[in-house]
Amino acid sequence: MMPKTGHPCPDTPTPWAVARPGTAAGGTAPPGASRLAGVPASPGAAVGPVARMAAPPTPPERAPAAEDPAAEADRARAALESVARWLDARAAGLTGDGAAVLTAQALMARDPELARRIGERTEAGQAAARAVHSAVGAYQELLLAAGGYLAERAADLADVRDRAVAVLLDEPMPGLPDPGHDHVLVADDLAPADTVQLDADRVLAIVTRRGGPTSHTVILARSLGIPAVVGCAGADGLRDGTAVAVDGDAGTVDVDPGADLVERIRHRAEHRRSLLAESTGPGRTRDGFPVALLLNVGEGDPGEAAALDGEGVGLLRTEFLFLDRAEPPTVDEQTAVYTRLLDAFSGRVVTVRTLDAGSDKPLPFVRTGPEDNPALGVRGYRTARDQPGLLTDQLTAISRAVRATGTRTRVMAPMVSTPAEAADFAALARAAGIGEVGVMVEVPGAALLADRLLPHVDFVSIGTNDLAQYTMAADRTLGSLPELLDPWQPALLSLVASVGRSGERLGRPVGVCGEAAADPLLALVLVGAGASSLSMSGPALPAVRHALARHTRSDCVRLAEAALAEPGAERARQAARAAANPRTALW
Ligand code: PEP
Ligand code: MG
Repeated sequence: MMPKTGHPCPDTPTPWAVARPGTAAGGTAPPGASRLAGVPASPGAAVGPVARMAAPPTPPERAPAAEDPAAEADRARAALESVARWLDARAAGLTGDGAAVLTAQALMARDPELARRIGERTEAGQAAARAVHSAVGAYQELLLAAGGYLAERAADLADVRDRAVAVLLDEPMPGLPDPGHDHVLVADDLAPADTVQLDADRVLAIVTRRGGPTSHTVILARSLGIPAVVGCAGADGLRDGTAVAVDGDAGTVDVDPGADLVERIRHRAEHRRSLLAESTGPGRTRDGFPVALLLNVGEGDPGEAAALDGEGVGLLRTEFLFLDRAEPPTVDEQTAVYTRLLDAFSGRVVTVRTLDAGSDKPLPFVRTGPEDNPALGVRGYRTARDQPGLLTDQLTAISRAVRATGTRTRVMAPMVSTPAEAADFAALARAAGIGEVGVMVEVPGAALLADRLLPHVDFVSIGTNDLAQYTMAADRTLGSLPELLDPWQPALLSLVASVGRSGERLGRPVGVCGEAAADPLLALVLVGAGASSLSMSGPALPAVRHALARHTRSDCVRLAEAALAEPGAERARQAARAAANPRTALW
């Protein structure tokens, strides 16, 4: 156990070594300056002038009635078509998720049903801009009422509307600012079309008023390595050009920071960059305890994922193979895709998650029946109750790909709730020829009975995104409950620790593959709570690897104990930070 009086690490002290919880970058706000608080979303700190997202244009409520309805409908259609072409052009310069999001938005702009609704409004005398605005508004309400994945698409549609209205009113295109210099991007929230175009060389940090810890903005900021604070209520008051210091580890935004704070942040950013550049190789604590650092992988080029410095794949989200299709992919088609991926990761381990359909990922060929609460309905492994063929086909395809490549492959099912479900899944997977079988722990019921569930499987992986939503009864797709979804909630951590203890007792590895694993300080807590592998997006790996290398396993246990003893998320984060090696230079 580490002495209480100081940390024995022989590292060169830096000005950041004095950083203390609750003081961004170790400084106090100078007199007259103010500090805004939000949710720490993507690590690192930066200082720079604010550039706000342009406000969306609003068409005048009471425009004179349109004289030529047909001409107005044509103008509206032309505006939507020009937006669709603009989105297509941007999609052409991207690959993977980014291109798919923009292409889907272009389809929305060309939706004939939307055109029909606009036509009804122009017929009734509305001018083109007002007709587009109100027709999209009505459409959005339908999506919002459907909930889940469809409700999230409402934001994409709003973005299409704002761009089309801007074209019609001849106003500047809403969206990302381009002040021509480095800036801190401040927004209410970021639409997918904005996030995929973000210029990581110009955007020093991101601050949003809305958004929770698993929102689009967070995932994007982390994948680009940009510091971010979300759920920052005071972001509304930030004006263009105002200097701010953003601390993505502490979740603070200092307005008009003093010269000292600016200097410290610059130094910290520089120091961080050089530290992370040196962080390579397998994950280990300072005393040599191995913690496998794995990658979360979805759609995209397997070669690009395999080029990253990860020890394998900890979560292959297979949904990308099934989305946007009327029929499921055939066994042959799936075998070909899995074979390419397993080939690319030859010599490493790949953890394939079986299809996680339902709830926020509805698929036309997965029948769930009408559901008022889809997140509590037929999703993940539960879809196999009525449609076992989808799962058995997928297991057959994975097994064939394993035989073809020889790559070490583990297979796990999402949303398993009981030991009996774990046993059934393990039997199915083994019958299909899979050697290493596990389940995800994302339902509190599964976590609470880990002792009885683990004997049926070879490993478990904790999905903290869903485990947070079900533990705190807070919909993860909502931006309005960020503090409940905060993975530092001690209730969530205590479930992780209970699974960790069961894993240690029964000799079964426990991993974590939710967003929580990508936060370097929280990663230490998770290891202290019993995780022996952590899976995350590629850009998050170096900071987690570096943090681990600065702490012994017993340090991690001490951090976990400190966080678990607190009553709330923010206090847990502060307690862990106070107990961590201050020379880690990441917080
Ligand atoms: C999770 O729930 O933490 C997880 C990793 O799965 P997903 O985010 O894909 O639901
Ligand atoms: Mg999940």
